[in-house]
Amino acid sequence: QVVTRFAPSPTGFLHIGGARTALFNWLYARGRGGKFLLRIEDTDRARSTPEATQAIIDGLKWLGLDHDGEIVSQFDRADRHREVALEMMARDMAYKCFLTQEEIEAFREKAREEKRSTLFRSPWRDADPATYPDAPYVIRLKTPEEGVTVIRDEVQGEVTIRNDQLDDMVLLRSDGTPVYMLAVVVDDHDMGVNTVIRGDDHLNNAARQMGIYTAMGWDLPTYAHIPLIHGPDGKKLSKRHGALGVEEYRDMGYPAAGMRNYLARLGWSHGDDEFFTDTQAQSWFGFDGMGKSPARFDFKKLANICGQHIAATEDAALLHELQAFLAATHQPTLSDAKNSLLLAAMPFLKERAKTFPELIEKAHFCLADRPLEIEEKAAKSLDSVSLGILGELTPHLQSASWGREELEGVLNAFATARDIKFGQLAAPLRAALAGRSATPSVIDMMLVLGREETILRLGDTTG
Ligand code: GLU
Repeated sequence: QVVTRFAPSPTGFLHIGGARTALFNWLYARGRGGKFLLRIEDTDRARSTPEATQAIIDGLKWLGLDHDGEIVSQFDRADRHREVALEMMARDMAYKCFLTQEEIEAFREKAREEKRSTLFRSPWRDADPATYPDAPYVIRLKTPEEGVTVIRDEVQGEVTIRNDQLDDMVLLRSDGTPVYMLAVVVDDHDMGVNTVIRGDDHLNNAARQMGIYTAMGWDLPTYAHIPLIHGPDGKKLSKRHGALGVEEYRDMGYPAAGMRNYLARLGWSHGDDEFFTDTQAQSWFGFDGMGKSPARFDFKKLANICGQHIAATEDAALLHELQAFLAATHQPTLSDAKNSLLLAAMPFLKERAKTFPELIEKAHFCLADRPLEIEEKAAKSLDSVSLGILGELTPHLQSASWGREELEGVLNAFATARDIKFGQLAAPLRAALAGRSATPSVIDMMLVLGREETILRLGDTTG
């Protein structure tokens, strides 16, 4: 069974790169009936905060990336990490090193002066434990001095690192705290993680982590190190170019399904498919489609995909998401009456909206209260002639059958009889029904508002 994980460090918000890493792991597991686990790498006590942990959990929840099992705290597992370090010593795969910080610095300084590698093997590596002083020590991994470490990466291919380029890294610090590199391996092993998909900034770590797996005789996971996300200019992703927390995307009103779809396409592709459902993504997703070069973040593409998802979402579900958006952005909740207007209008509201704010903008005629405020541009189409036209139209609407074709018939017949173009009728109608000049079609609005409300709004306008 495939077991993946997302292992963020809670030192800030869940940024877009982290969200994509989580998504890839989620897709890979979900598409294979596997498990997707969540581990919070909170060992850096100075930089980890509960707020950041919460932001990560909220961000994943909004994105719909549900995880299996309990959330694991890496910090809580420090005893187990220590236990493994001691076990490695017992297997002669690790050793106590009593070098002081000053001794190490002096060595490095000298190496730099002599333009030699600063990499070193501690003189304590093969020391007889009987000679151990009663002094502070760290525990170091005994890295093989010869041979190579080969990372067989599903994305990067075979990456070979000479073992004499790897130093004997510290596993336990002198205060007994485990280092991050040890914690990751022990946790992944204990959690049964067998597939590690993460940013390629961790590729070098993989070589070191493999040393711990090997020392413990544990099975290596499958590695897939994915290229980072760049800005549209090909440079490191900047704030302006999208390096934001996922909650900022939520607050900008992008639907989560659209985010998932767009993020999946950042560094992975399936033929020419741009728009797809979760089910499709889960069944298609794999290492084959992963690119080796950095993906470029593009707001325009994101908006396009999001628009397609909004249009494809079922009306009631979309209303639900819209309500969640309003709540997340601290906007007032909607009355039942407005909710039903929105639901009735949803089939045409969702047609060309790329974000929830765009949807709300189109839905203005459902959300505004009587008497409507009339925008300046709309007010221009309410001169005395137009007001007269609206006044004359009102009795026709009072007796009309309230259906699409019937209303079209009434409006067309009225325009013909009055010898005006349809536009001359539609413009003041828009202004009266929505207070705006850019609105959904007048018939659509009338059908949603109903006869009573339509006539009341016309009455408000004509006075
Ligand atoms: N905690 C690491 C990070 O936030 C990820 C470690 C891993 O995926 O192995 O970058």
